[in-house]
Amino acid sequence: MGLNTKELIKKYGIKLTKSLGQNFLTDSNVVSRIVDTAEITEDDLVIEIGPGIGSMTGELASRAGRVIAVEIDKHLIPALEDNLKDFSNLEIINEDIMKVSVKAVTENRQNMRLKVVANLPYYITTPIIMKLLEEDNDIELMVFMVQKEVAQRMVAKPGGKDYGALSVAVQYYAQPEKVFDVPPHCFIPQPEVDSTIVKLKKNKKPPVILKDKDMFFKVVKAAFGQRRKTLLNALANSEALSRSKEEVREILSAVNIDENTRGETLSMEQFAALANEFS
Ligand code: SAM
Repeated sequence: MGLNTKELIKKYGIKLTKSLGQNFLTDSNVVSRIVDTAEITEDDLVIEIGPGIGSMTGELASRAGRVIAVEIDKHLIPALEDNLKDFSNLEIINEDIMKVSVKAVTENRQNMRLKVVANLPYYITTPIIMKLLEEDNDIELMVFMVQKEVAQRMVAKPGGKDYGALSVAVQYYAQPEKVFDVPPHCFIPQPEVDSTIVKLKKNKKPPVILKDKDMFFKVVKAAFGQRRKTLLNALANSEALSRSKEEVREILSAVNIDENTRGETLSMEQFAALANEFS
């Protein structure tokens, strides 16, 4: 049995960097449950984002065929390498995940299934998730620790206050599911927010047919950009769409959407119909 997180921090004299979202998991039960959620087998190649000092990495490497761990903080790399030196199926990359091409680093994975598991740094949660969803890669499943509110927004359905551009974007690419909550006392240092584990199963094909994906996301962004405005005003005010109020009125009428409704009530199908009319 290796050292636990607190012992590792002490042994390697690690100084935690708050601005990099360094809240390390200290609860091994939570670690096991996260890895269980990803249903990892020897057929899997797992990318771990932000391994820190490896609180979860050993568990991943003992169950997966291969693990690629991407950590931005160079100060953590020696401890990480030393702590996990017994795992020959682990590769550590010292890089910002936003600059890593998943396709390139997983090129020769033969027919291993690709999964991502991460206790994400909260300052950059949405950009990381959107990058992994949008880029051309073969990821099948992602299991993330995120802030509780972000998890609620990812799974939200039309009509509620949590439903927004993130809900539509995530649900366009994947089926998100909240799995369990993790309280602050499971980390060192303790974050100021509650956390939730979410599982995102990538869609094999998109849930709606779009003429122009960029236009779809422009419409979604415009509709939620000014939440208190009617849909007509929110869309007509959008610089990205640059259409007159009269044009927007005609488009809404063509797809049978009430101009006085609000963006937060529209379903994915309605957004798609609307965007296809704009395209
Ligand atoms: N996996 C560890 C755990 O569960 O204890 C650490 C999780 S901690 C919440 C987030 C980790 O992500 C930190 O180690 C941090 O240095 C790293 N990190 C922050 N920004 C990153 C980025 N852009 N690319 C890769 N790693 C990043």
